[in-house]
Formats: sequence, C-alpha cells, structure tokens
Amino acid sequence: MKTISTIVPVYNEEKNVPLMLKALQDVAARLPAYNFEFLFVNDGSRDGSWEELEKAHKSDNRVVSIDLTRNFGKELALTAGVQNCRGDAAIFLDADLQHPPELIPQFVEKWENGAEVVASVRKSTKKKSIIKNIGSKLFYRIMHYCGTGITPNTTDFKLIDRKVINELVKFTEHKRMFRGLIEWLGFRTEYIEFVAPERINGVASYSVSKLVRLAVYSMVSYSLLPLKLTSYLGFLIAAVSFCLMCVMCVVRFVYRSPFFSPISFVIVSNTLVLGIILTAFGFLALYISQIQTETMNRPLYVIREKLEK
Ligand code: UDP
Ligand code: MG
Repeated sequence: MKTISTIVPVYNEEKNVPLMLKALQDVAARLPAYNFEFLFVNDGSRDGSWEELEKAHKSDNRVVSIDLTRNFGKELALTAGVQNCRGDAAIFLDADLQHPPELIPQFVEKWENGAEVVASVRKSTKKKSIIKNIGSKLFYRIMHYCGTGITPNTTDFKLIDRKVINELVKFTEHKRMFRGLIEWLGFRTEYIEFVAPERINGVASYSVSKLVRLAVYSMVSYSLLPLKLTSYLGFLIAAVSFCLMCVMCVVRFVYRSPFFSPISFVIVSNTLVLGIILTAFGFLALYISQIQTETMNRPLYVIREKLEK
C-alpha cells in the first residue's frame, strides 16, 4: 500500500490545526487505498499551536508533529517536512485551509497517471490585498524577464513524488524558495487550477516586507540579470560620457567655442569615472556570483530514473 505524506507548516495556527486535521482525516477516509502520514511542522509558533499538535498526535497515530526550535520561515519548515516524511509522495498544504484538502484526490489521480509533480495554479484569491496582488504579478513578470520561468500563480500547494523528495533533500542552500527549486529540478509536471478561499482563522503572517525579501532572494539565487544590468548600465554611462567628452574637446579646442564651460568638463569626467566604476563593479559582482553559485553547492544534474538489473 502506498503512503502519502501531507506536510503542513504551522506558524501561530492554534485554531486552524484541529480544522486542518479534521479535513485531512476526511480526505484520507475518501482514499482508503492509501496509507496517510499527516506531518505538521511547528515553525516556532508563539501561540498554542504546539499543544494542539501534541493533542493531534495523541488522537491519531498517523499524525507526526515536528517542533522547530524557533521561527525559521515557511520555506525551511517545509524543508524539515520533506526531510522527515516517509511517504511515496508528499503534499504541501498551508495550515490556514487556503489550500483546500478536498483537492487531494485530484492530485493523487494525476500522480497515479504518471505526473512526478502536481502543481496547483491559483485562479484568484478572494480579497487579497491590492499590494500583494500587484506585487505578485510584478514578481512573476520580473522573474520571467530574468529568464527563470517560475510559472505564474503557482503556489506551494503541490504533490511531489518520492523521486522529487529524494532530490530535494540534497539541496543545501539556506535561502530557498520551494516553488523555484521544484521547477528547477525539471520533473514531469501536471497542473490543477483552484480558487484560494479566505484564510479561516488568524492573520496571514507573510507580511509584504517578508514577501519582498523572498522575491529578492529568489531573483538573486535564480538569475544573474540584476548583476549584469549594473555593468551594462555602467558601460553605457561610460561610453556616452566618453563620446560627449570627445565632442566637447573638439568644440572647445578645435573650434575654440566657449559653448561648454569648464565646469561641464568636470561634470562629464565625473560621469565617465562613475561609468567605469559601475562597470568594474558589475564585473566584480560576476566573480562573486560565480563564487555564490559554487558555494550554493546545488546538485549538478538530476537523474529521473536509474535502470539496473
Ligand atoms: N508559515 C510558517 N512560518 C512562517 C510563516 C508562515 O510556517 O514564518 C506557514 C503558515 O502557518 C501557513 C503557511 O506558512 O501554514 C502560509 O502562511 P500565510 O497564510 O501567512 O501566507 P499567505 O497565505 O499570505 O501566503
Ligand atoms: Mg494563507
């Protein structure tokens, strides 16, 4: 019998934990052909979430509760879940029921039909703040231009096969975004659309500033474009001011026209130097990025399957 692990990161969700568990139990009852493991990772909650998780574990032996020492953030909580799950597949869900557990059978069906990753695409979130909405659109657009296609509106609500889990545990980078990593691995992916309902209890703990930080880390770790732009810009500034300087010299010294005052020479030579510095800066950044890529120590290639005797 195959085992499915559900992985739920929990940060200040004391009211949602029992609801979530109930919803998961209902789904498990609808899928009697599978064993379930309900894994919850308490990410340093400051409310009674852990007590709820202890209770959940006592009430149902399929519940595995993991308590982190402090708040590491959702991405690392998910990592802890992935590294500790035993399932043949794992499904990530948010504790606030914004990722409806009722959809799990659809994920499982696609998985049984050969998908190695079943990703979900959020159609629209009712009452998502305008800033978050615009922010997420902007983020996907920029990531797209950076040449790293994270599929727009995919969420962490995903099912991944054991093969994917085995690859994910090899990643050692600290700043990570699961969605990006899973896409990076390149396994066969199927999509499910869903409408995210409103959060049931508590408040969304992903503040705008936390999201911005996550977006910046993702851009930095998936793309060199921001670095390259710096040096392109520097090169452009240097080139333009160099040409301008030549024109000014000709006007001043060949035609002996007082059109350009001495101060304009100072200004243009300043921008020229600025351009050179920016270019050098960009090169420096490229070297650093090489070091960064190496120290991230990502796996060099990914094996989908190994045929052995
Ligand atoms: N979460 C977490 N650690 C954090 C912040 C959030 O484990 O530092 C969990 C949270 O309990 C929830 C999920 O991540 O299960 C999504 O969080 P939230 O609902 O705040 O984010 P949003 O719905 O705005 O994406
Ligand atoms: Mg939420």
